[in-house]
Amino acid sequence: MATIDNFTHELRVAYFSMEIALCDEIPTYAGGLGVLAGDALRSAADLEVPLVAITLASTEGYFRQVLDLEGRQTEQKDSWDPSLWAVPLGAIVAVTIEGRTVWVGGWLYVLKGHMNGEQPVLLLDTDLEQNGAEDRTLTRQLYGGDEAYRLKQEIVLGIGGTRMLQALGFQLRQYHMNEGHSALLALELLRRYAYPRGDLRPGESSYDIPRVRELCCFTTHTPVEAGHDKFSYALVQRLLGDYIDLPTLQHLAGVEHLNMTRLALSLSEYVNGVARRHAEISRHMFPGYRVHAITNGVHPFTWTSLPFRQLYDAVLPGWCHEPERLMRVACCVADEAIRVAHLQSKQGLIDKVRQEAGVTLKADCFTIGFARRMTAYKRPDLIFSDINRLRQIAQRHPLQIVLAGKAHPKDQSGKRLIETLHKHLHELKDVVTIAYLPDYDMATALTLVAGVDVWLNTPLRPMEASGTSGMKAAFNGVPHLSVLDGWWVEGCIEGITGWAIGEDNVSANGDDAEHLYQKLEQTVLPLYYQDAPGWTAVMKGAISQSASFFNSQRMMRRYASEAYLR
Ligand SMILES: *Cc1c(COP(=O)(O)O)cnc(C)c1O
Repeated sequence: MATIDNFTHELRVAYFSMEIALCDEIPTYAGGLGVLAGDALRSAADLEVPLVAITLASTEGYFRQVLDLEGRQTEQKDSWDPSLWAVPLGAIVAVTIEGRTVWVGGWLYVLKGHMNGEQPVLLLDTDLEQNGAEDRTLTRQLYGGDEAYRLKQEIVLGIGGTRMLQALGFQLRQYHMNEGHSALLALELLRRYAYPRGDLRPGESSYDIPRVRELCCFTTHTPVEAGHDKFSYALVQRLLGDYIDLPTLQHLAGVEHLNMTRLALSLSEYVNGVARRHAEISRHMFPGYRVHAITNGVHPFTWTSLPFRQLYDAVLPGWCHEPERLMRVACCVADEAIRVAHLQSKQGLIDKVRQEAGVTLKADCFTIGFARRMTAYKRPDLIFSDINRLRQIAQRHPLQIVLAGKAHPKDQSGKRLIETLHKHLHELKDVVTIAYLPDYDMATALTLVAGVDVWLNTPLRPMEASGTSGMKAAFNGVPHLSVLDGWWVEGCIEGITGWAIGEDNVSANGDDAEHLYQKLEQTVLPLYYQDAPGWTAVMKGAISQSASFFNSQRMMRRYASEAYLR
């Protein structure tokens, strides 16, 4: 087993993320942000870009979703045992919370690329004998608890993580904040590099802000003001005491609240959004900051089903390392090979849906997939806006729908959406077979994106910063049918990689349902049922035009050359 010493001899980039999807069995993620972090690390391992990732051990996971017949969600602990997957870190460090010393230890998990590359991942853990009962719970529940619990977790991640890297002897060239949760790391660096008092001229701050900015880069993932983590200064002072003086904090992080996004922006020389559209929106939201765009991507090996992996391996060796090779699928792979690989993937979905939802899907019936975090802006119920219309469409062109997704335990509207979807599932039983798979996770995601015929995405614009599940579908030859938001603004080539729902116009949100029905009825379903070669051409378009570009190898090469090696 690798030890820390395997990783401390070369300069690395510290990659901080509140959640990271490491593998199917380790539940330290809630959704797209964690999957993206995992894919970034997997690509870094493939490309041998030296990183060290820092996250929380989240030993009770996010949660395990249990659904009853009406779609009422209850949550169970999704516990995992780090000692089965990781080795203890040879150090513990202290942070001060509410005037108490809280000890932070942790685990070394070694993430392996599909080739020989490895990346160290530090899983911070406060569940130590030295800590009081309450502090021992701080690294158990991902996104659990109240505001104070969240800020304490962010203290452990940002401040504890930075101290842990130093205690272990890591040599770092950059600190990368994947979303604002870890922004306290920049305050820790400010304190580390403060000028001695004697060196100051009157009116000068003791903090070397330019030096810290040089060391930090920040990726924002949230295109709406309300989505950014904010804490009242009363809470901040209660938990952090005089860690940093209030005027300095207000200058860096906002006068009213400590806004983690503002803090990260103020202390990072390089800032990026996760798609071109999202970077534009971020520039408007935060005038005065230079926001670059590095469009997200997904990890080729992880998100390609076995039948397609085997097909690509045979025809385009090296595709996993250099997914640009997939461009050749358009002309160098026989239609029949694509159809066979898809049918095998679809059979995998049919088996899983029978086992886990007790629903029997038909292999020759057009299948729509929709799965993601269940939250209002993603509009999972959009396709059910007009039940009679959907019924009529399905009477002319048979269709079935597979759904999945968890709602955050405190997101009441998200929970109601799951119940609404179940209501429609019962209502439409006689015409449209609909299955809801419980406990959406990485394994379910792969089966779904590969096994359906079209991947549906209907967020309320401009709320989807990027979205990545449609990119996963592309690796499996599954076209995307989506509102023009996030990555799809760049990815959509109408009728070639998939189809747009409505125009590229944020004020047209209200017409999306009608546009969805029209596109299904007039374009997508006729093509599927009446023009097999035409349909296969779109499957190939998704692979050759979308997967070849929207992958995390390209994304990581750009982070390496533009953010890390500035
Ligand atoms: C890819 C993935 C997501 C993100 O999907 P979006 O389309 O970006 O919302 C969420 N959860 C899981 C389990 C995933 O695999």
